Formats: sequence, structure tokens, C-alpha cells
Amino acid sequence: MLNYWDIVFDYVCHRYLTMLVLLHKNAGAAAASQVRSIAKRLLTTTAAGSTTTTKTTPATEHYDIIIGGGGLVGTTLAAALAKNTTLADKKVLLLEGAPPFKGFNSSGPYQNRVSAINRNSVELFKSIDAWAHIEAARYKPVKQMQVWESNSNALIQFQHDNFASDVACIIENDLILDAVYARVRDSADNVKVLNKARIECVRLPGETGTAHSHVQLQDGRSFSCELLIGADGANSVVRKQMGVDVFSFNYERMGLVATLDLNMEEDSDNSVAWQRFLPTGPVALLPLSSKQSSLVWSTTVPHAKQLLAMESAQFVDALNEAFCREYPRLDVADKALQALNSFFGNSGSQHQRQYPPRVCGVQDGSRATFPLGFLHASSYVCNGAALVGDAAHRVHPLAGQGVNLGFSDVRILVETLATGAYAGFKLGDTQHLIKYERKCLAKNVPIMVGVHGLHTIYSTEFSPVVLLRSLGLQLTQNLPPIKNIFMKSAMG
Ligand SMILES: Cc1cc2nc3c(=O)[nH]c(=O)nc-3n(C[C@H](O)[C@H](O)[C@H](O)COP(=O)(O)OP(=O)(O)OC[C@H]3O[C@@H](n4cnc5c(N)ncnc54)[C@H](O)[C@@H]3O)c2cc1C
Repeated sequence: MLNYWDIVFDYVCHRYLTMLVLLHKNAGAAAASQVRSIAKRLLTTTAAGSTTTTKTTPATEHYDIIIGGGGLVGTTLAAALAKNTTLADKKVLLLEGAPPFKGFNSSGPYQNRVSAINRNSVELFKSIDAWAHIEAARYKPVKQMQVWESNSNALIQFQHDNFASDVACIIENDLILDAVYARVRDSADNVKVLNKARIECVRLPGETGTAHSHVQLQDGRSFSCELLIGADGANSVVRKQMGVDVFSFNYERMGLVATLDLNMEEDSDNSVAWQRFLPTGPVALLPLSSKQSSLVWSTTVPHAKQLLAMESAQFVDALNEAFCREYPRLDVADKALQALNSFFGNSGSQHQRQYPPRVCGVQDGSRATFPLGFLHASSYVCNGAALVGDAAHRVHPLAGQGVNLGFSDVRILVETLATGAYAGFKLGDTQHLIKYERKCLAKNVPIMVGVHGLHTIYSTEFSPVVLLRSLGLQLTQNLPPIKNIFMKSAMG
């Protein structure tokens, strides 16, 4: 029988799929397949795993929970499971394919991989005692965010004073890993970590003929568990074995990252994050310190390759130009914005765009590129398995949401497992795991659709779209309640 959550779940998924069909030209077939899969799940009480049979060696050790993938999300999940008092007696194994983490040196140069971390993620770190470690090292609170576009005067500003907290914090990815890994290593007796432990194949309860999931590593070692959690990123082996439909596509864009030196005074604040939407994709400066910022520049693949190959000085010129260059303006959009601003009683000076600090250098060896794509699994759970982080969903980095959604999964999954264990459910029981999936879908899907929508409407110079998006951005700027809604969902 369908309950309240079934209806909400059904509604959210259908709205999401309809929007994706409208937003992406190749979405039809994939969306239809997601609809089929969601409908199938709503009509059955247990989701079946894939029926592919893979030969594995008998398990040598049994755990309550195995986490496949020790990236930011998987390691944070291990720390959060260990910290939860209801789950503290569960034996947890964290399997990471890479060699042991080398640690983080907070007096060394800034790293090129950073994340804009929202308030909810900071709360999660606090709850697992990892925040003090980050605070004692280094991080940069963002007090204001300026977003503007290149084909009109439209601009939006988010300030921390409107929300009684910082807009976000910029933290190096390795520092986050260092902080959560320290919690696992120093205080989690029930969590074992294995490095160089690449999962080769997985068998779920439907295939093992038992209530357990099995994991086999490339080196032949084999383990069994009540619940296998796939935190193994966008190419998740666990997800593939779950046999869930996946809606994914490549943006044909690369995200270029780098650590930049700024032309600023030693004691300057540098607490503003800047993002300009260019026709090829957004370019963003995220503050790191008084004189350094981190770059995330999403652009076409050939352009990213060019930028990567340039001499440092040439690269710095190209970047400064990207922030200042005048693009063809849509007069009608600028006039409409003027009218809108005067309707709201705003003078031009209140909405004057400021310019980001001039970049004067790029740290040697800090430039790197990453392919950008969209991915969403039609289901995050099945009997004996669940997905978290990029294994379940991947978004464009333009709104800094990817890993924050993963941390939100962690919080929801740990809460769900704890209430389930208290109520006597088995850890891998789909009847209970489905509650995790529903809460995540209700949170993740609107954000993913919003982020993808922003990418889509800012990838065109088609005049009606430029006009509409400029008006949309300026209306949001002028109407604090709407701005607060956007801001609150981005801040977590
Ligand atoms: C340029 C760029 C900028 C970004 N900026 C932001 C931002 O500002 N804010 C934000 O919220 N997000 C941001 N993101 C997104 C964020 O980086 C990802 O969402 C996040 O790293 C995903 O973490 P994860 O742990 O789920 O997956 P991953 O980081 O992919 O980790 C997966 C782990 O699993 C391991 N693994 C994989 N396969 C196996 C296997 N078979 N066996 C064992 N281990 C395995 C891998 O070695 C890895 O350690 C950005 C992304 C990009 C590309």
C-alpha cells in the first residue's frame, strides 16, 4: 500500500525526470528507463540485485558493514558510523583501492583540490569531532559571493550577514580527508581500514544465496557483510552490480583547477568568492588566504588543454582577461534590468559590479583538469547494499554541491541505520534502507536539477534566454525571500 512517502517520492522523481527530459536532448531514453525502474520499485517491497553470477572465493572474514571506497565521503561515513552510539558495536571494514593516505601538511603550499563546504557539512564534521582538526590547520570562511554574467549587467550577491553564518568555507580536500581519517584511526576501534584493496567484484544476497553480500578484491582476498556501501565514486563497481539504471552524460567540459597568487596586500581580507558565467562555462575564484585563491574554471575540452599547456604568464593573462573581457551585450536585457532596479528603488551604484582581485601568478604544477559529467542512479539501495556520494550522484561543480550532497547522504544513512538497528531491522534490509533513499532523493534531486539547469541556461547566448536568465538573476537579487531560499538550499 502506498503511504505518504511513496507519493512524495513518486512526485519528486517524476518532476525531476520531466525537467531533465526538457533540459537535455538525449535524456528521453534514459529517463524512460528510470521511470520504469522507479515504478518497479514502488510496486515491490524488496529490490532485487543484478542476476549476473560472478565466481568469488569464499569469504575469509565477516563484517557488519563494508564501505567500498575511502574517498572524502567513504572515510567520513566510516568516522560517522564509529561515532554513532547505537552502531558502535558494529564491525566496519573500509576498503580503499589507493595506497595509504600520506597525511596533510598545513604549513605546506595550498593544494589545488579544494571544496566549498556548506554549513550542514561543517555540522557533520563537528558531530564526529573532525572540525577541531580542520580549524587548527587552515580554512577560509567565505563572507560574500558575487556571481555575474557576461552578456548583461545581471549580478547577484550573497552575504554572510543575511544568514548569521558564513556563505561557505573553502577547505582543501586532503585536509578534510586528514581530519576524518584521524577520527577513524585514533578513536574507532570497530573500524578497520585496508588500503591497496581494490574491489574487483561484488555479489549481493540474491546471488550469494545467503543474507550476506560478498566482496572480492583484485588480490584475491574476499569478505562478506550484512550491508555493503558503495562509496567508490562515479565508476562505482558496487552500483554496477546492484543493476540499477543510471542516468548520466558528459558535459564535454573540463574543470581546470589551480592555486593562484593575487595582487593583494598581506593583511587584506580576501573573503569574497567570485564567479563569472562565460559562454564556455563558469570561472570561479575561491579564497584560500589573504593573497591566494583557488581556481575552478569550467570550459571546453580543447580550451582546457590549451590553458593547461600555456606558459604561466600567458595563463595568468588569459585568466585575468576571462574575468574582465567584454562580451556582446544584449541591450534589451540591460534596459530591462535598469527598469527592474528602479522599480525596486535601487540605484545603479547599489548594483555596480565589483571586479575580483587581479591574479599575478599561478603556483607551479598546480594546474590540473577533471572531466565534468552528470550522473544519477535510479535507486540508491537494494537488498544488502546502498550507495553514497558520487557513486549515487555527480553534479557540475558550478554551485559547489557535489561532496556536500555526499556528506548529506552520510548523515541520512547513519541516522537511518541507527533507527533501523534500534527497531530490530537487519542492516541490509531494503524495507528500512528505502527510507534512506527517499530522504536523499527529496534532498538531492531538486539541487541536481537546479545545478544542471543553471549550466544549461548559461551555456547559450540566445537572446531570449539571456534576457530571461538576466531578469531571473536580478529578480532573485532584488527579492530577499527568494534569494534566501536559494541560499539556504545551497548552504545545506
Ligand atoms: C573541479 C571540481 C571541483 C569541485 N568542487 C567542489 C566543491 O567546491 N564543493 C563540493 O561539494 N563538491 C565539489 N566537487 C565535487 C567533489 O569533488 C566530489 O563530489 C567528491 O570528491 C566525491 O567524493 P566521493 O568520496 O563520493 O568519491 P571519490 O572522490 O571519487 O572517491 C571514491 C574513492 O573510492 C576509491 N575506489 C574507486 N573504485 C574502487 C574500487 N573498485 N575498490 C576500492 N576503492 C575504490 C577511489 O580510490 C576513491 O578514493 C568538485 C569536483 C570537481 C571535479
